[in-house]
Amino acid sequence: MSVYISVELQNRIRNHFADFCAYCRTAEALTVTTFEFEHIIPLSAGGITAFENLCLACPSCNRYKATRQTAIDPNTQNEVKLFNPQEQLWTDHFAWSEDATEVVGLTTIGRATISTLKMNRLQLTRVRKMWVKMGEHPPNI
Ligand SMILES: [Zn+2]
Repeated sequence: MSVYISVELQNRIRNHFADFCAYCRTAEALTVTTFEFEHIIPLSAGGITAFENLCLACPSCNRYKATRQTAIDPNTQNEVKLFNPQEQLWTDHFAWSEDATEVVGLTTIGRATISTLKMNRLQLTRVRKMWVKMGEHPPNI
């Protein structure tokens, strides 16, 4: 669903997330896609179009998240809320693997979000390996 977001609000969100995907932390500048403004609580669930409910997301994370708000932690099989990039700190729930090619879930929320948004899919881990060689990854944010 496409919704009007003022340029001022778009800039505020872009600045807040430093032009990185709020979920997988891919830098938009390293991709050939335009990142999207994602409703953390979907409009269909009553979420509003306001700074507090919006984040910057790469198209893949945005598609896999879709209207989901919860997911299953693959370790515990418990249903938990997905990571909320406006209310929670990325580093509280995620870390980079030693070679920085994979996102590691530190919590049930982290693991469920990685699994649902497929944040370690093969294409992404391969390209992260190249970014590491280029000195462009992991992000310093
Ligand atoms: Zn992403």
